[in-house]
Amino acid sequence: MEQDLQARPLGLYIHIPWCLSHCGYCNFFTQAYSRKASDDYFRLLISEKNASLERGLRQLCTVYFGGGTPSLLSAQQISELLSGLPLAPDAEITLEVNPIQITDRFADELHRTPVNRLSLGIQSMRDEELDYLQRKHRAANLPAKVKLLQEAGFHNISGDYIYGLPHSNAESLKMALQPLLDLPLQHISCYLLEIAEDSALAKDIPLLPSDEDLAEQYYLMRRLVSEAGFEQYEVSNFARSGYASRHNLLYWQGDDCLAWGASACGYYEGYRYCHPADMAGYAQRLECGDLFAVQDPQAAAIPDYIMMRMRLTQGLSLAEFQSRFSQDFRAGRQAKLDRLLQLGLIIDDGQSISLAEAALFISNAVIGELI
Ligand code: SF4
Repeated sequence: MEQDLQARPLGLYIHIPWCLSHCGYCNFFTQAYSRKASDDYFRLLISEKNASLERGLRQLCTVYFGGGTPSLLSAQQISELLSGLPLAPDAEITLEVNPIQITDRFADELHRTPVNRLSLGIQSMRDEELDYLQRKHRAANLPAKVKLLQEAGFHNISGDYIYGLPHSNAESLKMALQPLLDLPLQHISCYLLEIAEDSALAKDIPLLPSDEDLAEQYYLMRRLVSEAGFEQYEVSNFARSGYASRHNLLYWQGDDCLAWGASACGYYEGYRYCHPADMAGYAQRLECGDLFAVQDPQAAAIPDYIMMRMRLTQGLSLAEFQSRFSQDFRAGRQAKLDRLLQLGLIIDDGQSISLAEAALFISNAVIGELI
């Protein structure tokens, strides 16, 4: 049984499924935006908020508006969702923003809400790659847009970058990434493009770079981002000092995070739960009042914890694992640990186990050995 469930930090994820158009590679739960559907959904979120408050909420350290495109919410809707919540005085409140929406007015109105961290879906600083990803913004406009956000008062801004597109190589990666590193950002998330076999881009799967080429791109990306002054703290995430995403750290450290909205998944007091990924099912769930239905059994807690925790560059603390699960992490795993150590894929300093540099690109396979 996990220990100290009530004492853990708590975050809140709010899923906003609307998008202005659908990007071919995306497999999140999204819907075409319409004012009416968005307003109906907003009312469902307010019911979930009220139900959470009635049930009792401990202090929230972070709130994260993800999607979809949460920047399609009005500033007033954002404030209404946040008002009355037990936010910690220094709570980190993040909103994912589609760069195409950034204007003077957008930035000023948003800054009047409690949102204090922005995550921009930049994805690339090459227009041909943005076109491929079906993103509507233009690379040349990004510096001015980030400046508008800064002038409005936002000083904790993250940018997403996607690498590994069809026909990409080390040279194209430099062209797409270097101008992004010149933007005044505090945090960068770098993701490998994954094309699902049932997605609109599936025909391009044969055009993707080989695993060796992708590994070369990953390690080049990692070097360029580090040279620009960002410290890697997770397999895909880099931050300037003091700007690691506190919300995402909750997931990777196995802390609690509530989730509101259709398709949103939370982890609360030892249980993982997911809301239905359709509007009718979500509305029905709220009507029944069973916010934590479809809980995974407690048995999933240890594999989930290992999978998330090992993604952090600081790795998995053996003492913390013992105190959390009343188990020795090495028990039943020592032979595997020895083998991974011999292969140069993990670091074992006696206090913690972490991924070695050579394992970062194949992290899922290496961590999978320890589950
Ligand atoms: S804007 Fe983001 S969430 Fe929406 S379809 Fe594109 S990638 Fe997916």
